[in-house]
Formats: sequence, structure tokens, C-alpha cells
Amino acid sequence: MKPIYLYNTMTRSVEEFHPIKEGEVSMYTCGPTVYNYAHIGNLRTFMFEDILKKAFKRDGYKVTHVMNITDVGHLVGDGDDGEDKMSVEAKKEKKTVWDIAKFYTEAFLKDEEKLNIEKADFIPRATDHIKEIIALIETLEKKGYTYTANGNVYYSIDKFPNYGCLARLDKQSLNAGERVEVDKAKKNPHDFVLWFTNSKFENQAMKWDSPFGVGYPGWHIECSAMSMKYLGDHFDIHCGGIDAIPVHHTNEIAQSEAATGKKWVNYWMHGEFLLSEKGKMSKSSGEFLTLTTLENHGIHPLSYRYFVLGCHYRKQLQFSYDALKGAESALKKLKSNIKRIKESAEGKAPNMDEIQSYNDDFDKALYNDLNTPICLAILHNIIKDDKVTDASKLEFIKNADKVLSLSLLEDEKTEEVEIPEDIKALADERLKAKANKDYALSDSLRDKILSLGYRMIDKKDGYAIEKV
Ligand SMILES: [Zn+2]
Repeated sequence: MKPIYLYNTMTRSVEEFHPIKEGEVSMYTCGPTVYNYAHIGNLRTFMFEDILKKAFKRDGYKVTHVMNITDVGHLVGDGDDGEDKMSVEAKKEKKTVWDIAKFYTEAFLKDEEKLNIEKADFIPRATDHIKEIIALIETLEKKGYTYTANGNVYYSIDKFPNYGCLARLDKQSLNAGERVEVDKAKKNPHDFVLWFTNSKFENQAMKWDSPFGVGYPGWHIECSAMSMKYLGDHFDIHCGGIDAIPVHHTNEIAQSEAATGKKWVNYWMHGEFLLSEKGKMSKSSGEFLTLTTLENHGIHPLSYRYFVLGCHYRKQLQFSYDALKGAESALKKLKSNIKRIKESAEGKAPNMDEIQSYNDDFDKALYNDLNTPICLAILHNIIKDDKVTDASKLEFIKNADKVLSLSLLEDEKTEEVEIPEDIKALADERLKAKANKDYALSDSLRDKILSLGYRMIDKKDGYAIEKV
């Protein structure tokens, strides 16, 4: 095994990775809150975690990966304010929260598949782990870390001296009190709810009996409970988006380490934001692009993966359709070169000596805190190298693509699809609606076409149609 170096948010430095158990990696990644589609900024984080996992596998590690599904308790605000995200969406869509959870969980897993993200080994749902969550809260209660106020069970951050170590929060300013006090029952404004019984959400559909009263868990406790159930109370890596550092991950550490009395996670890793034209992409900021949005623009999901891999995961990435289209044409060109290599290499054996230095360079970049832009550059370089035979190139590409997962060896679908007349008529109607600026009609026609199994792609002068 070669050494792997990773940036640990806890120490703010790149460190050599040492596993708890020889040859094995245990990793937990915070999963989606399934009240809506994941936006492409979220998906960027899941792709970074996918690369991390595949880097370990390339190096010969056995990886155990757990990703949770948050289907209860995540409020609109991270600090226990606002309504439950699931309930809000259920009301809006006139469905039950259970239906919403099921629908968006499936949608998320489908997005992962389209992006060639490998499924986690365990994908536990919070609502299936209420027993473990209650047990953990009881442990915290016994050890004196909780208090009950206004019917809710709170975690008292003043009882945990290390609170805020991950985010390097200043204790002084934490205690000084916030200007906006959202919950008067809290002793410290940064205390957080472990279990809601009395709350403003009277119509909460998901409720369970507990020693603290009928109610439901806060958001943070599920990750502590489920990670420890599947990975034990001390594991290697915990990942998430950079926005999880100040509240979510900070609270996870406080809960877990208070309960066990020891260190919980060795390495903390966080992916940076994707910036939309209006700033950070989020569900509340208005700029909300999903993978389906990109597909409706005629962009293949793997073009988005290629675009994301062109930037280091710890750098902010500016999204624009122009940049994405640039990535798409670069990937197409790369794949057509690979197709030629594949044809010419047929039946010939690779010479491993020819690609040794390329493989070493690829490892060096990948194991240096997942430097995917350099990995892509190495891939482009070997393709251009006249001294390497096509059979050897192919061997390199095969292995590189196990990590990059761009389906580099799969041929593009080129077969022409016959478009039925009624679909063409609907598409013409939509084009007219768009010209008349009747966007509601235009959107409903696009959805209708999609429900019939075709996708309409807007072009500068007209449209194209493809089979879904
Ligand atoms: Zn989490």
C-alpha cells in the first residue's frame, strides 16, 4: 500500500492517513434530507466522497461506507428553528411525509447511479433507528449532558468543554449570547434539541413513544446513533459538505464523545461549495439546479462529473452552463480518442513497464488529498504519448476509470431514435408557448413530453428530442 495524504478539517492540515484497523477504512458520510431533489452542489459533495472511497480501494483497502438518509427531524434552520423540512414539503405536495421520503430517496439514489457514484454499504434511515437514538439520548441524560425545558430534551454545550473544536468556535463569543434568541428555553443559545415533544409542529406526522414523551428526534443525534451502530464508537473518517462544520458536525462530536467519553472520529473531511451565478447554491437561495435540470438542458450527468473532477474538492467551484458545456465537449473528445485506442488495442497485450510512471503519477496525485484535476491531466497526457502503445494506454485508462468513473470505455449511444408524430406535435406546441412567453404552458408541455418517455432539449434555433 502507498501512503495516502488527506486534509483533516480537525487539524487544518494535510496528514498521512493511518487506519484504526490495518488495511481497512470505516467511513461515514452525511446523507441527503429527502424532502426534495438533491441540488447539484450537494451532488458535488457526494462525488468527492465517492472519489475518496475509490482512492482507498485502488490502494487495496477494504472500505466500509455508511451513508444515512435523513427522513425526520431536520428543521428549516440548522439551529432548531423553522419547521420540519419533510412536513413543509408534504403539505405543499399534499402527500404524506412517508411518501415524500420514499419518493425523494429513490430520486436521490437514481441521481447517484447516473453519476456513477458507488452505493454505500449501509444506507440507514433515521426513522428505522429511533430505538438507537433514544438509547443514545438516555446515555447522555444519565451522564448529565441534557436538560428538559418546555417539554423538549436539550443538549447542554456548557457541559462539554471541547464544544466547537472542529469549527474552532470561540467559547467566549458562544457564551456571550446571540442577538437573535430563537428558543427561550435554551440555557445557551447554541444548545440543541435531542428530542422534541412540545414544539410548534402540532401536526407532525412522524411521532414515537419515548421515555421523554411522545415526539421525534432532533436532526444531529441520528448521525451519532447510526454511525456508531454500523461502524463502532471509534472510526476512521467522517465526511460532509463544508456547511456541516459549524453546527451539524460540531453537535455530532459533542453528542458522541460525551456518550462514549473518548475520541470518536480520526479524520474529518469536507467538500467545498458549488457557486451558482447568484452565490452559494442552496434550496433557499432561489438558484436550485438538479441533475434533471442539467439533463433538460441536454447535458449528460457524466459531463457534470467531469466538470466537478476538474476542480479540487476543497476549492469553490463556479458553475455556469458555458463552463459545463466546455466540460462536455472535452469529455466527448476524450472518449472519441479512447474509442480509437480501444479499437487499435484489440487483441494486443499491454506492457506494464510503459505505464508504470503514469500509474505512479496518478497515484501520487490521487493520494495527495485527491487531486483529481492532476489525475485528469495525466490521463490526457498518456493519450497523447506516442511512446506508449495503445494496448498499454488502454490498461492505464481501465484502472484510472475505476476511480474517475466517467464510463470512459463505454461507447456513446449514437443510434437514431424515431420520434413519434404526437411527441413532435407536443414539442412544436411547446416551442410556440415559449415564443409567446407562456412559461406555465411551456413547462407543463415539457413535463408531459417527459411523462411520455421523451426529453425535449432547447437549442438556440428550435429543439431536439431524445428518448429518456
Ligand atoms: Zn450527519
